[in-house]
Amino acid sequence: MARRFIVMEENIKNVDENGIIIFGDEVKHIQVLRKDVGDTITVNENMYQIEEMKRDSIKLKFVDKAPKIGVPITDITLYIALLKTDKLDLVVQKAVEIGVKKIVLFTSSNVVVKLDEKNKIKRVEKLQKIAQEACKQCGRTDSVEVEGVLSFKELETEIQNRKVTLFAYEASQEALRKELNSIKQNNITEIGVIIGAEGGFTPKEADELKSVENVKCVSLGTRILRAETAAINLVSIVIYEMEE
Ligand code: SAH
Repeated sequence: MARRFIVMEENIKNVDENGIIIFGDEVKHIQVLRKDVGDTITVNENMYQIEEMKRDSIKLKFVDKAPKIGVPITDITLYIALLKTDKLDLVVQKAVEIGVKKIVLFTSSNVVVKLDEKNKIKRVEKLQKIAQEACKQCGRTDSVEVEGVLSFKELETEIQNRKVTLFAYEASQEALRKELNSIKQNNITEIGVIIGAEGGFTPKEADELKSVENVKCVSLGTRILRAETAAINLVSIVIYEMEE
């Protein structure tokens, strides 16, 4: 597979309809790989021909859309509580590799990580980078958005608009298999999944989530999993069931 260069939005300047100029780290990578004027390279989701090479920037002409590889058929959004740094980094990396389409962070009563507005933005940016690197490493040609951090109320509002959301709750008796079968029977291809914080949800929060329309409260078995294990496990099961 051709190497794909990932350039963040802020490092792209549109010149005209068919041309862009890129800046930043990937310019160096492209140069180290000895790409030169006339060569075709893949940047983000498109193929471009190199028109002009400068020390700090490269001018590119659009050639075509790059072929899609590794793009999941099922559109899974993972709603994950703001876990401690290393755990959340791991969840984002693995969820992208396995095949989620979007990751949305939220806080709730038992979330121990407290961030002010500035640090929330920084955290999302760092996770966005991890997601981008994971896409690149696993050969996905699409990108995975990391969003948030939603308040618990905002989480409730957001999932109200979804066709189906699987809420993993350790006190649930409902079989995940049953819900997935019904999702398949109804040809639903957009699925939300919710995983709580290290300390889980309070009973009141769990009741509130359960009462949202189209939320299916499911068990991941009789053992209580760590939040990061639960997230990776649930995403894997959904992908396995939906993408045979
Ligand atoms: N409240 C618990 C455990 C929280 S586990 C406690 O503190 O003991 C963290 C998250 O992982 C939960 O919010 C839930 O989303 C998910 N989870 C862990 N084990 C699970 C199971 N057996 N079934 C469903 N979800 C589970």
